[in-house]
Amino acid sequence: MILLMGVAGSGKSTQGRLFADEQGFAWISTGELLRVLITGSRRQDMLQGKLLSDEEMVNILDKILDLVDLKKEFVLDGFPRTVPQAEWLLGQAKKGRLNIDVVFNLTVSQEVSRGRLQARGRLDDIDEVIDKRFKEYDEVIQPIIALFRQQGLSVYEIDASQDPRAIRDEIWQRTKSLNIA
Ligand code: AMP
Repeated sequence: MILLMGVAGSGKSTQGRLFADEQGFAWISTGELLRVLITGSRRQDMLQGKLLSDEEMVNILDKILDLVDLKKEFVLDGFPRTVPQAEWLLGQAKKGRLNIDVVFNLTVSQEVSRGRLQARGRLDDIDEVIDKRFKEYDEVIQPIIALFRQQGLSVYEIDASQDPRAIRDEIWQRTKSLNIA
């Protein structure tokens, strides 16, 4: 499994989808999944940048993973977003259900991210919600990365302010050198 992490506007989903298309891999984006599944007031919560509870998120992902051939490589994007979610994923790896081959953390400045999101124009891409997603991400990303490193995973920071092609090439090079793709 290739884990793609990055704040909104880092291009994580663009890269995840592109990489999965090019390689013929499954692409599991929790944001996309939730936009398919979640209705009513919780959909409003999502649009305000509020995270779903860990319990609900894990429940959904657990079911989705049952639909995927976990022996084959796939891309997971948008998960984990909290330390308990990271611990759950590590637990699944420890049980042998899946293998976390590499973690890419797409880093980008708030200015670049904001510019991209405003150009994209999704309903949750307004200043207030962008600030919230940035803050949430900043607070939680370091502990998750630290936990992954402590567990001996390969974690790479990618400068996501580069143009999409350069980011794509960097992901390709890394996965090639790790014999993943
Ligand atoms: P994204 O498309 O990754 O920006 O996600 C859109 C929204 O889906 C987020 O603002 C959250 O409300 C929700 N979401 C996506 N992934 C997760 C997750 N792993 N845990 C909790 N909520 C999530």
